Amino acid sequence: MQPAVLVLNCGSSSLKYSLVEPDPGTSVAHGIVERIGSDHALATLAYGGLKVSRERRVTDHDAALRLTFEMFAEAGGHLETLGLVAVGHRVVHGGREFYRPTVVDDALIARLGELAPLAPLHNPPGVLGIEVARRLLPDLPQVAVFDTAFFHDLPDAAAAYAIDREVAEAWGLRRYGFHGTSHQYVSEQAAAFLGVDPAGISQIVLHLGNGASASAIVGGRPVDTSMGMTPMEGLVMGTRSGDVDPGIVFYLGRTAGMATEDIENMLNRRSGVFGLAGHNDFRELHKLIENGDAAARLAYDVYIHRLRKYIGAYLAVLGNTDVISFTAGVGENDAMVRRDALTGLAPLGIELDEHLNESPANGPRVISAENSPITVLVIPTNEELAIARACLGALH
Ligand code: AMP
Repeated sequence: MQPAVLVLNCGSSSLKYSLVEPDPGTSVAHGIVERIGSDHALATLAYGGLKVSRERRVTDHDAALRLTFEMFAEAGGHLETLGLVAVGHRVVHGGREFYRPTVVDDALIARLGELAPLAPLHNPPGVLGIEVARRLLPDLPQVAVFDTAFFHDLPDAAAAYAIDREVAEAWGLRRYGFHGTSHQYVSEQAAAFLGVDPAGISQIVLHLGNGASASAIVGGRPVDTSMGMTPMEGLVMGTRSGDVDPGIVFYLGRTAGMATEDIENMLNRRSGVFGLAGHNDFRELHKLIENGDAAARLAYDVYIHRLRKYIGAYLAVLGNTDVISFTAGVGENDAMVRRDALTGLAPLGIELDEHLNESPANGPRVISAENSPITVLVIPTNEELAIARACLGALH
């Protein structure tokens, strides 16, 4: 029996989980409980070729994890027999202090609680997930893996905001970067796929999911990334605005009389592609565009424009780029986004092979033309596997 890690990724009303054997890297089971706190929570589990789903009342994350175990047992999976050695938790913000995968104890939970103001929407559910798992699986070590970790050593020029230094220092205002587990995993996979040493290449990774971020990486270390002190900065996302003039926030507060929480909610949950088009799923967006929906067209154009700006910026930051990798839901599946992000960039060394780009394959693959100076790849991300491996690493 291989050692297995239960990986948890908690949102405010969701619990996403995955049971992974870090070596050789097999996903044994995965699923999600959504709409936690409602009478119609939806729980799904995929295990050993079986897909099970339930809709019922789930009061809190505790009940959600219990329900998951129940469904698991009914599908024939008994936790005791699966070789579970640890629980790995995705924690969004580690602040300046935490960047290595860290075994959870009371002191860590207390410190994570203190970091909550830095990531008010993201860290509290992560901490909740840790507490629930500690209660329900008290004999297993719990390990926190931070989404900011990979960017911990970002060069000062990329990490610092050009604002009053004393204020920045007093309040920890700097660019932390997020999706680090994915950027690290994908950049390592890209190098392995090409059979080269990551230490010898420069890369751009485009993580385009519901959240979206770009990173520039030299020799395996990031030199810039698009998300900042919070996961709001940078690219246009499913529901987040990405870069906006901070003046908008003051204007809305002062002139439109909006409360801080309302502005934050608007920029996080009702902006991005959703804010402009009313939908944040790219499959839906394409259908709307085909039907002549002008708002969907604008949302797509703004998304692509911002993406191209960041690609251009990172080509300049790196000076010399060997590889560009697309990953996550949109990056892995949406050939049109990939094409529109890179079209016309032959003078900068990027030539896509349209046929390869549109191939329905879903593994790691090359999509650039044979003679393209920069190799363009699609590399499926696997944050759960990366977290599970980091988890085992922390225990040894
Ligand atoms: P993620 O956050 O990585 O799970 O990505 C989720 C997003 O990926 C969804 O909101 C969709 O916009 C996008 N997506 C997933 N599958 C496809 C697909 N086949 N074609 C285009 N976009 C997709």
